[in-house]
Amino acid sequence: MGTENLILLLIEAGFYFVFMVGLLHLRHQLGIGVFVAALGVMHFLETYLAAVFYIELPFGVISPGSSVLFSGKLMMILLLYVKEDAAVVRAPIYGLLAGNFLTVGLSFFLRHHQTVGAVPGRIADLAFIDEMGWLMLWGTMMLYVDSLAIILLYERLGRVFRHRTAMRFFVVGVVVLTFDQIGFFSALHFLNGAPIEVFWGGWIAKMMAACAYAVLITVYLSYSRLSAIPVSPRPISDIFADLTFRERYEDLLDRSGRDALTGVYDRSRLEFEAPRLLSAMLVEGKPLGLMIIDADHFKDVNDRFGHLAGDGVLKETAACLKRVLRSGDHLFRFGGEEFVVISEDILPDAGADHAEMLRRAVAADIRRPDGEPVTVSIGVANSYHDGTTLNALLSTADARLYAAKNAGRNRVVSR
Ligand code: GH3
Ligand code: MG
Ligand code: MG
Repeated sequence: MGTENLILLLIEAGFYFVFMVGLLHLRHQLGIGVFVAALGVMHFLETYLAAVFYIELPFGVISPGSSVLFSGKLMMILLLYVKEDAAVVRAPIYGLLAGNFLTVGLSFFLRHHQTVGAVPGRIADLAFIDEMGWLMLWGTMMLYVDSLAIILLYERLGRVFRHRTAMRFFVVGVVVLTFDQIGFFSALHFLNGAPIEVFWGGWIAKMMAACAYAVLITVYLSYSRLSAIPVSPRPISDIFADLTFRERYEDLLDRSGRDALTGVYDRSRLEFEAPRLLSAMLVEGKPLGLMIIDADHFKDVNDRFGHLAGDGVLKETAACLKRVLRSGDHLFRFGGEEFVVISEDILPDAGADHAEMLRRAVAADIRRPDGEPVTVSIGVANSYHDGTTLNALLSTADARLYAAKNAGRNRVVSR
């Protein structure tokens, strides 16, 4: 009996996994909403099962709701994060939180209805409605914490399990599901008087789920990675290395597009990064600032002290600018002795003040070999009124930089 239940449970986990991963895999064709909505719908069944549906396995009594569906959902959230990013995965995390609060709120009102038996032989299951109460709220909060925890832990373990994907998914599953089991059981125990066997049965089932899903995810990732790159057969170790494509991609991205002399991002990176930053700011309705910073009379530095000394001054200037940047600022070497700073969410006046601060920092800190200060002129533009494309902002900032040079250098022009 217990064995049959176990086999059936594994089939359910496999069925759930194949179906959900299918939706996730086809997200570019179907839209990510299909996967997310399906995930949300499953929450209802999961809650119902956790409330009343228990089965006997060789090692104890468990709920398919928490072993297959709840564990599966956490793994799906993690998988979505791995395939997309934090900005995408936070939508279902907060959506589940909001939907569950709404469910509990509506149930509260529903409970006050006088129901009638409109369909012969069927009456409203008020016990079920009652399950949508405090335990669901507690479970919802747990799910929220679990979701954030599983992603953060996954990132933390990236270095430890760099090329061992299955282990990585298994360990995050074990840790977070154990944490969840302790949290959820405590509520069941103190409020419903659930016996300790319920804890162990549920825990073992969740550990099995973590193991099964880790294996399935690894198989899927190796398949999807392989199917994405139609190359000759590669050694299995290579495939495993690729499974951590997220970090490798980011590492690569972080190293490429860097200027060799100053170590800051270069112009190609600006052209890649700026449109993304711009559209993100536009979507959020926030202004974006851009400035071009040009060293004054830099040719003199080279002419009098040599190109190498000039290089040293440029390096120091970049380092000085870096020190004064705020979070949300992005520094690029635009060309020879010119830098561009893009600032997220900054209004024109604040952008001008910020540029003034950078100008002062350079004038105060950077010296030529003869001890004379190195100064910069800065042209500032803002998406608030200077256009919303990189080209528009660059050409406005460039015109203002030119004005700053004409006005005597070592100054900021922002209008
Ligand atoms: P201003 O901008 O104030 O008008 O004068 P400037 O002398 O800085 O004018 P310009 O922009 O015409 O000259 C830039 C000089 O910067 C030319 C070049 O010698 C120097 N430069 C550009 N790239 C590098 C570099 O990588 N290393 C060094 N040492 N010098 C560079
Ligand atoms: Mg120049
Ligand atoms: Mg110059």
